[in-house]
Amino acid sequence: MGGTRPQRRIAADDRGIAEVVRQLKAGGIAAVPTETVYGLAADAANPAAVARVFRAKGRPAANPLIVHVANREMAARYAEIPPLADRLMARFWPGPLTLVLPRRADAPLTGAVTAGLPTVALRAPDHPVMQAVIRGLGRGVAAPSANVSGRLSPTRPEHVAELAVPLVLDAGPCRLGLESSVVKVEEDRLVLLRPGSLDSATLAEAAGVPVELAGAGAKEAPEAPGTAFRHYAPRLPLDLDVTEAAAGRFLLGFGPVPGDLNLSPAGDVAEAAANLFAALYRAETSGAERIGVAPIPAEGAGIAIRDRLQRAAAASRDRP
Ligand code: AMP
Ligand code: MG
Repeated sequence: MGGTRPQRRIAADDRGIAEVVRQLKAGGIAAVPTETVYGLAADAANPAAVARVFRAKGRPAANPLIVHVANREMAARYAEIPPLADRLMARFWPGPLTLVLPRRADAPLTGAVTAGLPTVALRAPDHPVMQAVIRGLGRGVAAPSANVSGRLSPTRPEHVAELAVPLVLDAGPCRLGLESSVVKVEEDRLVLLRPGSLDSATLAEAAGVPVELAGAGAKEAPEAPGTAFRHYAPRLPLDLDVTEAAAGRFLLGFGPVPGDLNLSPAGDVAEAAANLFAALYRAETSGAERIGVAPIPAEGAGIAIRDRLQRAAAASRDRP
């Protein structure tokens, strides 16, 4: 927790952004806001900086990082861009869609970013501060979520406190609150490696090709390495699809289930997504012994919410 060095939270104004860019240029790391969750940023071309990211998070070396780019043009320095990927970029970038593409041989990346894979995961974030950081550095920013590996993702600057990172660029709460959807682009199909903010029905409709679920059916469909690891673990046991209050259990409500804190009284899954991780942080420090979560419908962002909660429940069952 926290590390030995103090953590400084600075406003995401021009001065703050310039300070973070200086840090990144010097091989340092900093926590930065995006529209999905806070990221732990490093220059993707700098081996020492990327090593710092893995160390700060305690992230397994086999779990590659997403490289954040300003736009398609910058993406083309790193990956081959087949026509299908082009269409997706035109439609969804900047936004919460990460594309896994064949890595260019001359991509200016240090090997640890892609964990030695022949592919690279690229995303253009839709956040003015993160865009300014990327443009300031002038090249790709490697940025996994700014949490200790296995823990809840931070959607508020104060939740980065668990991580040993000297600098947090504070732009308030993240608008979407769930990580990006990670999609592997193949010639005539898409494989959803990680469900996320952008739901696969919307994706399939725009792409005009099927979106297969990693691991489901097609044996050859790979999972994102990251989904194999313990993830999103709250500090308390977590129960899903709970509708009744019970002593000692902090209930996250949804719609008509009020709970101790309602993720979305209106029953809006996008609103619930934006509140999810902050609500889990709140629940685990409430003094309760368990956390319960009301049923969330498996539609739109609800699919990714359910994915995160199922992983959180599983992780909370085999806590160390
Ligand atoms: P995070 O960095 O915490 O947002 O997680 C990024 C996710 O993208 C993890 O699940 C990674 O395993 C996945 N990922 C990153 N690069 C690749 C890649 N080249 N191929 C497949 N999955 C990837
Ligand atoms: Mg993560």
